[in-house]
Amino acid sequence: MAYQVLARKWRPKEFDSLVGQEAVVTALTHALADHRIAQAYLFSGIRGVGKTTAARLLAKALNCEKGLGQGPCNECRTCEEITAGADLDVLEIDAATYSKVEQVRELTESLQYGPSRDRYKVVVLDEVHRLSRQAFDALLKIVEEPPPRLVFIFATTELDAVPATILSRCQEFQFRRVPASLLEEHLAKICAAEQIRASPRALSLIARAAEGSVRDAVALLDQLATFGKDTVDEAAAARVVGALDLGQYQNLLAAIVDADTPTVVRIAGEVEAAGYDPRQVFAHFLAFCRDALHLALGGAAAGLDLPPEEAGELTALARRAGYENLLRLLAHLLASENLVRRSDAGALALEIAWLRAAELPRLIAVEELLAAAGGAAGAPTTPRAAPAPPAAGPTLRSAATR
Ligand SMILES: [Zn+2]
Repeated sequence: MAYQVLARKWRPKEFDSLVGQEAVVTALTHALADHRIAQAYLFSGIRGVGKTTAARLLAKALNCEKGLGQGPCNECRTCEEITAGADLDVLEIDAATYSKVEQVRELTESLQYGPSRDRYKVVVLDEVHRLSRQAFDALLKIVEEPPPRLVFIFATTELDAVPATILSRCQEFQFRRVPASLLEEHLAKICAAEQIRASPRALSLIARAAEGSVRDAVALLDQLATFGKDTVDEAAAARVVGALDLGQYQNLLAAIVDADTPTVVRIAGEVEAAGYDPRQVFAHFLAFCRDALHLALGGAAAGLDLPPEEAGELTALARRAGYENLLRLLAHLLASENLVRRSDAGALALEIAWLRAAELPRLIAVEELLAAAGGAAGAPTTPRAAPAPPAAGPTLRSAATR
């Protein structure tokens, strides 16, 4: 059998296989079961979460020869033709290559005549926000007064860019970012079926890097499995997704907390020399700092995606840094994110963001100060208690800077 890319092979053929979109699936299947068919649907969400897949499934469910009201059978001629993109009554159009007003006019004229064979004529307009203003205006009339048995399914990654006039005519479905844990499960399922060897840590790296997109996660797995001849190498996965060794993130965070700028410069230099993508490394470090913040708050390490040994070290580091300092560090990193993402000199932007972080004035716990002052005045020294998490009462004040 010819090789088929995993993303295509694992594209869902029924609603229940859409990963992580239970709310959308429930609403759609219930409406179909009751024969409540809208004239225009709008599917929004980030890339690769199943919008166009769901649109195709809906087109099949509307037209399946086994009857309306259940999912697609995937066996009748209509279902098969829609899967192959060969059904004359189901049009899939990429708005990005179809944004001219003349094209939209031509389309709307052709839609006046209803379906030629199927129950419904279905127009899937992907990336609908890419249409020009005039193209939207040309579309609006037919969306407002559609001929019978015509269904529009709009898909977009930018909901804000869709005009309100169109929005108000649509039944809207928001596709969510798929949580990393669900992506991991999905990848593990694919690995088992495709006989791909991959450690849980490698799958976790891929799932995190995909940032909620099923398609990206599966494509990454495919790339790594092909590269490793059906074995996903953990080091290769880390490299591709731009994840440094966890120890390096620990060292970096420690250096930032201790204002150890030479070490920060050294690590930034190593990242650049090794050819990592600065944006990916920045994003991973951000996630790492977020984990540290949760630990500083007294959160359990078990809930984090870290090996036990690293979790122990990070807990100690997080306590030492203190909640307030970590919070300010995260706020600073978030504020620098766009700069790193958009800069042509990403490695430089990364280094500057980290150095600035190391130069943030450090907040010190009141107890620590009092203990230090008490010690200096010759008062009896008491063992210093570990700072309690803020939930137990605010113990940190911006009392001093280094
Ligand atoms: Zn069918």
